[in-house]
Amino acid sequence: MTPPARLNSLAARDVAAVFHPYTDQIAHAENGPVVISRGNGVRVLDDAGKSYIDVVAGLWCAALGFSNERLVEAATRQMRALPFYHAFGSKSHEPMIELSEMLLARAPVPMSKVFFANSGSEANDSAIKMVWYYNNARGLHEKKKIIGRIKGYHGITLASASLTGLPYNHKSFDLPLPGFLHTMTPHFYHGALPGETEAEFATRCADELEKLILAEGPETVAALFAEPIMGAGGVLIPPAGYFPKIKAVLDKYDVLLVADEVICGFGRTGQYWGSQTMAVQPDILTCAKALSAAYLPISAVMVNDRVFGPIAEETHKLGTFGHGFTYSGHPVAAAVAVETLKIYDEMNMLDHVGDVGPYMQSELRRRFTDHPLVGEVRGTGLIAAIELVEDKAEHRNFDAGRKVGARTAKHMENLGVIGRALPGDGLAFSPPLIITKSEIDEVLDGVEKALAAITVDLR
Ligand code: PLP
Repeated sequence: MTPPARLNSLAARDVAAVFHPYTDQIAHAENGPVVISRGNGVRVLDDAGKSYIDVVAGLWCAALGFSNERLVEAATRQMRALPFYHAFGSKSHEPMIELSEMLLARAPVPMSKVFFANSGSEANDSAIKMVWYYNNARGLHEKKKIIGRIKGYHGITLASASLTGLPYNHKSFDLPLPGFLHTMTPHFYHGALPGETEAEFATRCADELEKLILAEGPETVAALFAEPIMGAGGVLIPPAGYFPKIKAVLDKYDVLLVADEVICGFGRTGQYWGSQTMAVQPDILTCAKALSAAYLPISAVMVNDRVFGPIAEETHKLGTFGHGFTYSGHPVAAAVAVETLKIYDEMNMLDHVGDVGPYMQSELRRRFTDHPLVGEVRGTGLIAAIELVEDKAEHRNFDAGRKVGARTAKHMENLGVIGRALPGDGLAFSPPLIITKSEIDEVLDGVEKALAAITVDLR
């Protein structure tokens, strides 16, 4: 493909050579990339020197911003000492041991062991395989189906994409694979029946799950995966009482609960884990992203005793656990994650989020709840969304083809705020955890202007 001549040379080279993830390739060839060259605190600079506040922390991940020297030093130190070693066949190294201990000490419920991978998708794929292995170990060879939720996001590898409940992760990929099911989205704003209370809605979500399990046969259903707060599906906060009601159904049918904390983990929701904020009691927990503040790729799967016990027995019977990545527990990534968790402790990250999170939430509501285009402002801690709607009274969305959310995000970007449009025209807010109140004000000033601009466009 010959790049358009108007693009500067880096942009032209990108268009000529790069196959971008999550990108319309034809539109990209036409418009070219935004090339980001440097980071500074919550800001990034493009190659023309324009500065942006990134209000989604990259992809909900750069929790300590884009210029943390301690993480650079931790990586450099570890690279000098031991740049690589693996964890297969009982090999080990200190950064991985220390990180495992730190994660177990911080887990929201008692956990037994930690397995490492490189991405959220790999962590969830690993968890799916562990669930299958666990049930084979127990002699329950039929009990393999995995339930996700419509609009849930768990990644893009074959199994995690099957678990994801968003159409664009399935369409034209021949997914989901057989054995993956989806239950209803616990989003009160769109899902509630007329006159239904939040508690009744939560009960109905649990009833739907039970119906699905019974229709499939409980002896065939192995696990439910859930984000405490759905992120990429729209920042959807479950109704009060949802997870305890769901957990009661799962326990009744011996179905495991896996918490996908890839976005929610490490303070994002106001507590250390989204599971604490949303009363989730997982058997398995996956995390990534803020685990290393995104400075290096690393993810983790924590399993409790109930799960680890039978798996351990099976590995002994078979002579190994036939699963693991070359880079499982990579020492440099693990050292950076250890340093990241130390920084969270030392900066009193939860106190900071406890201060700026409620400020972001109340300012979002104060500025936007009554805006004619805004249907719902939702969120907790440092995760939020505002949803743009065509009809505020009816909660009716714009036609997806009009791309109102994406166009608003583009206006934000032009105004120096990198945001993200979610399916259903939600605008996501998930800034670096180090953001200050004045930076939040700056972001929200940009959002106000972007909403004014899209209002004009829509006339
Ligand atoms: N799970 C959740 C909740 C996510 O938000 C994501 C990515 O955004 C993933 C899993 C997949 O992570 P990765 O992109 O690192 O594979």
